[in-house]
Amino acid sequence: MKILIVADIEGVAGVNAGLQGTPGNAEYERARRLMTNEASAAIRGAIAGGATTVTVADSHGPMRNIIAEDLDPRARLIAGKPRPLTMVDGVTPDHAGVILIGHHAAADDYGVLSHTISGAAFHRIEVNGILAGEPTLFGGYAAEIGVPLLAVSGDDRLEQHVKQQFPEAATITVKTCIGAAASDSLSPDASCRLIEAEVSKAINASPAAKPVAPCQAPFIVDVQLMHQMQADAAVLLPSITRTGPRDIRFTVQSHKDIIGTLAALALMSSAVMA
Ligand SMILES: [Zn+2]
Repeated sequence: MKILIVADIEGVAGVNAGLQGTPGNAEYERARRLMTNEASAAIRGAIAGGATTVTVADSHGPMRNIIAEDLDPRARLIAGKPRPLTMVDGVTPDHAGVILIGHHAAADDYGVLSHTISGAAFHRIEVNGILAGEPTLFGGYAAEIGVPLLAVSGDDRLEQHVKQQFPEAATITVKTCIGAAASDSLSPDASCRLIEAEVSKAINASPAAKPVAPCQAPFIVDVQLMHQMQADAAVLLPSITRTGPRDIRFTVQSHKDIIGTLAALALMSSAVMA
């Protein structure tokens, strides 16, 4: 049984400030250790639940945050960027499920460090009129190729979002959102114990899980960028239409193309503001 664990940092217990996700300071060095520990807890849970092949995809920012030598050695590690499917690269139709650890609420929603793909690029993303967070896009991709989203860990706002869009997925709530950069969190140790236990249960139940994406093709993607100049750059691509000063729209037929277009727009958006 193959499982992909997609590890992010903003939803890790004890993380609530942007600095903790930004390389080059002591706070980040601590936070990446907490992220590595939560990923290892998910590996232990996955193997206890029956997984035989476990891969962790390091999926925050530079995508090389996990301290490889400290990760449970029974898993493989995907790291570095750009990757064709960004956060969910590595999932194939023969996987039994995807698990998101350390995740966060969507851009323009309440939540600790909430954003979607890039806080510097995207103010809000909707797919077919539904607020899109990273679970919407990456869990949606997995579902599209027949792989269910089994479990998600993060704050209580993420939990609400996932319950609406993936009602069958288990939600593991390790902290309560007080504000954009404030939380009431379990201790890192208690969070790891909870993740291990809940992931194990979710893997055990996975044969009955159904892959259902919250959005179906065709996908009309409405994006509000952070700055007008980012929309000026985006419309250089012939597939993008302008719908407002900071607003653009594109239509694609697959989650893969939503993800690829958004990843390219994030790169363009940071380049044009540099
Ligand atoms: Zn992140």
